[in-house]
Amino acid sequence: MIRKTVDKLSRMIPILNDVTPMKSIEISGVSINTKTLEKGNLFIPLKGEQRDGHAFVEEAFKQGASASLWQKDVPNPPTNLPLLFVENTLETLQKLARAYRRELSSLKVVAVTGSNGKTTTKDMVASLLSQKYKVQKTSGNFNNHIGLPLTILQLKKETELAVLEMGMNHFGEIDFLSKLAEPDVAIITNIGDAHMEALGSREGILKAKLEILNGLKTGGLFVYPGDEPLFAKHKHSIDDRWEQKTFGQSPDNDLYVKCVNTTGKGTEFTVNISEETFRLPIIGEYNVFNAMAAMIVARKWGLSDRDIARAFSELKLSKMRMEMTPGINGSIIINDAYNASPTSMKAAIDTIGKLSGFKKKIVLLGDMFELGEREKEFHRSVGERIDQNQIDFVITYGNLAKYIAEGAKKNFEADRVSYFHDKNALVQSLKAMLDDGTLLLLKASRGMKLEEVMEELAESE
Ligand code: ATP
Ligand code: MG
Repeated sequence: MIRKTVDKLSRMIPILNDVTPMKSIEISGVSINTKTLEKGNLFIPLKGEQRDGHAFVEEAFKQGASASLWQKDVPNPPTNLPLLFVENTLETLQKLARAYRRELSSLKVVAVTGSNGKTTTKDMVASLLSQKYKVQKTSGNFNNHIGLPLTILQLKKETELAVLEMGMNHFGEIDFLSKLAEPDVAIITNIGDAHMEALGSREGILKAKLEILNGLKTGGLFVYPGDEPLFAKHKHSIDDRWEQKTFGQSPDNDLYVKCVNTTGKGTEFTVNISEETFRLPIIGEYNVFNAMAAMIVARKWGLSDRDIARAFSELKLSKMRMEMTPGINGSIIINDAYNASPTSMKAAIDTIGKLSGFKKKIVLLGDMFELGEREKEFHRSVGERIDQNQIDFVITYGNLAKYIAEGAKKNFEADRVSYFHDKNALVQSLKAMLDDGTLLLLKASRGMKLEEVMEELAESE
């Protein structure tokens, strides 16, 4: 964690007022939120869409902040408090993170981007590398222009490796984050179809993700899914300044999967370069790809296949990612309600479709947001893809999800597809369907809060 006197800080970021009277004040760590602020933090008030952090500056000092930034165009700064005036507080947060990253000169950084699987892959890389090194990682989903600088500023001096997630909605964002983090390894997990709205096409998505190379150190390692044909098409942007390694299904990849087996307990797989059988305590065949990306990084830094296998078998992932829990009346619920895009929704449905040992399988699918003009078509295509031999009932929830139902009706008998826009009615209907031997998958965009359906079901028992 960053620890500095205000004097030192003033040499890392441009401060507009005279800091001489405050120069010996010590700060340790930064905070943008008075609820989580710790004593000694530098408070950084950000101007959000709804709230302006400057309204909380006095509160921050009450909570123990040792100094605070203040954006110069904000009126009525409180007097008699150690305020550091800056042009723009957000940009200052980012500049401070960049300066601190440069100070951590021996730190190795792994950057993870991609349409799906970033958090999972980040968690996997971190748990593999922590077998041998002091590792810190992005907490939860702190992967944007605010979360990434905050994560960097939390890095401890003794940390050897940082695994950082980079998310994006628009061109230029990954470029910015990667240049800030200066990674030694860059991973692209996959190219899906999320954020079509801003990026236009899958090719646009690829280009936006490839911006991760803009910050990758010379001699660094670039890891990507070799089965994605778009990479071959854009080979010219991946030059030999970097080492490259691919993972996937085809034997053309450096690392490819030989055998996958999904059981009720998780996923087992073998790969071309090892005798070991790797076991993940999670389901979802796509997780084998996330795991392979993580393996490439672990091997680079000297982990044995035995270490890798052990770390995989003990893996703990962030919440709501194919999380399997007991539901009411002896049913099993797979909660994947963290987020959704057409690719990840199809992948999740395929995964539960292949699971054996259940009498009845139900998918509860909600709206997917930010898909742009073709949103209805994307929803319909998810519905059309659902295999009636693998899934028994399709239930949809939300204004866009009704197009999933529309698509599903092409292959399913009408009474096996239903559509709800009222949560209570949905819960009542589900309640009647869940019994011993039933598997229910929950999947939608974050904003749909499908986990509330799960909570209400649990309460109704
Ligand atoms: P976000 O953009 O919300 O941060 P993310 O990229 O971090 O998402 P995860 O949180 O790791 O992704 O996974 C979210 C969901 O995406 C998973 O629950 C799963 O349904 C799906 N998913 C994960 N990995 C893959 C993959 N390699 N290919 C396709 N879908 C995947
Ligand atoms: Mg994530």
